[in-house]
Amino acid sequence: MKKTTFLFTCLLSTILFAQNKQEQVLEQLDQNTQAYGEIAHKIWSFAEMGYQEEQSVALLQKTLKEEDFTIEAGVAGMPTAFVASYGSGKPVIAVLGEYDALPGLSQKAVAHKESNGGVAGHACGHHLFGTASAAAAISIKHYLENTGTSGTIRFYGCPAEEGGSGKVYLTRAGLFDDVDAVINWHPGNSNGADPGAALANKSAKFRFHGIAAHAAGAPEKGRSALDGVEAMNYMVNMMREHVPEDTRIHYVITEGGKAPNVVPDFAEVYYYARHTTRDVVIDVFDRMVKAAEGAALGTGTTMDYEMIGGTHELLPNLTLQKLMYDNLKEVGGYTYTPEEREFAEEIATSLNTDLDVKNVEGISEYNPIPEAGGSTDVGDVSFTVPTVGLYTATWVPGTPAHSWQAVAAGGTSIGTKGMMVAAKTMAKTGMDLFDQPEILKAAWTEFEEKRGEDFEYIPLLGDREPALDYRN
Ligand SMILES: [Zn+2]
Repeated sequence: MKKTTFLFTCLLSTILFAQNKQEQVLEQLDQNTQAYGEIAHKIWSFAEMGYQEEQSVALLQKTLKEEDFTIEAGVAGMPTAFVASYGSGKPVIAVLGEYDALPGLSQKAVAHKESNGGVAGHACGHHLFGTASAAAAISIKHYLENTGTSGTIRFYGCPAEEGGSGKVYLTRAGLFDDVDAVINWHPGNSNGADPGAALANKSAKFRFHGIAAHAAGAPEKGRSALDGVEAMNYMVNMMREHVPEDTRIHYVITEGGKAPNVVPDFAEVYYYARHTTRDVVIDVFDRMVKAAEGAALGTGTTMDYEMIGGTHELLPNLTLQKLMYDNLKEVGGYTYTPEEREFAEEIATSLNTDLDVKNVEGISEYNPIPEAGGSTDVGDVSFTVPTVGLYTATWVPGTPAHSWQAVAAGGTSIGTKGMMVAAKTMAKTGMDLFDQPEILKAAWTEFEEKRGEDFEYIPLLGDREPALDYRN
């Protein structure tokens, strides 16, 4: 045999061997649909809010431990954050999992609004998020084991995504520093794998302290903390004319005094600044602080502020994204059973939409430039490691996140089916990354180019400790 033919045959057999092993792993994952569905359903029933996810975390840790993952619990100062690892050495591939529920959204798995009797509900599908990610990590572990591939697969248990910025603390603690690629997903109302987009943000509570006095009898003795808040708001609202386009500034007055006849000695305003780039957010926020300082000076009050949150925008990685999209296409969508269809029709009616299952059964078209609406703490991870994501139809088409309809569908087999599409796509992507180091290399080249040579990670929420009691 000629040398080139021989090499070609060797390469081909290696590829075929890998493909075969991948298929085996994915088949095994498929066979475990019911078991993973049950885990997700338990977490759905626990419906634990940010930093309170003890039962959910215990269940996920148990599941990973049974598959020989080593658990490092309570990382980065958060009792419900953990890292589960299998294998050793490079490359290190990480899968992110979330599991926090939202307050006030308790809902049964039925097609009409009815509370489940709890204080919270999985209206963002994070019970599926955590479970599918654990399933993907376990499948990748099976692949490493079956093929004798070297490297490390990790599952990151990320608490308090909803307003708690859990991943920012994980990033700040350096827990992603040795990772080569991060895989994640999010529940949704269709199947797709766009680059994704998110706004960078900084949020803080500004507190003004004045002097109380009788508002009619001795107003000259008083200094109104509410005046401080109002003066700050006035200045910030004027500032809107002089900030880059697409800046978002929003606030609520969380404390404005108790009675009109008492000069308020305390007032508080809660602000968000957002933009598509971190540097603009930093600048706008600094100017907001100046406005607060000026307001205090002018009203004879004092001011201090507490950082509440802060996340980076998403840094897309198109090299990885293309791989994820191709894999999602290969995995494909799913079809409803007649019962699921009936449930979906009812949900669609409650949303005043017609049921369109095109992107449940299929995959939505690749959108290279999605628009950013909200913010996510995955942003910080994406500036530390090349990060890739997808979303799948765990909710009925047309369902917005944070709605009772999302809780309801997430508690049914529709949620499980959507979750398994994500688990398989992530597992396949992870296996590919172990098989094809050249993809990782290209992803890093793109990452470093986009991030810029002199990039330095700045945690936008500063050095504050995790607000472990923010949902108490
Ligand atoms: Zn979410």
